[in-house]
Amino acid sequence: MTAKILLIEDNAQNRYLAKFLLEQRGHQVVEAENGPLGLALAAKITPDLILLDIQLPGMDGYTVAHQLKNDPRLSVIPIVAVTSYAMVGDREKCLAAGADGYIEKPIDPDTFIAEVERFMKVPPTEEAS
Ligand code: MN
Repeated sequence: MTAKILLIEDNAQNRYLAKFLLEQRGHQVVEAENGPLGLALAAKITPDLILLDIQLPGMDGYTVAHQLKNDPRLSVIPIVAVTSYAMVGDREKCLAAGADGYIEKPIDPDTFIAEVERFMKVPPTEEAS
């Protein structure tokens, strides 16, 4: 299964690595470098999954997740928070804001794809079998 993934991340190097790994796997990646742009693109392309950096300039990832989950058209899209915050309670804060999952930075190229794909909706063909 290939998916259309919206990657909201302000750091170009982080975007490059995530995009490289996802595209290598056959997924389509659309990039946004800030929250408002990410929200606009989410509404425009309705991605299958959103990878969301929490530490963003201006509007932070918690706010972005909250707004996505408050939009009836976008609330069904799985959100995976990607953050380097290592503080106790951050996972809970991400989930409370509406994220469906949480991946810690720096991303591990060996496990990243499997972690992301865990949050993708199972395609109908596999559900039926
Ligand atoms: Mn960031």
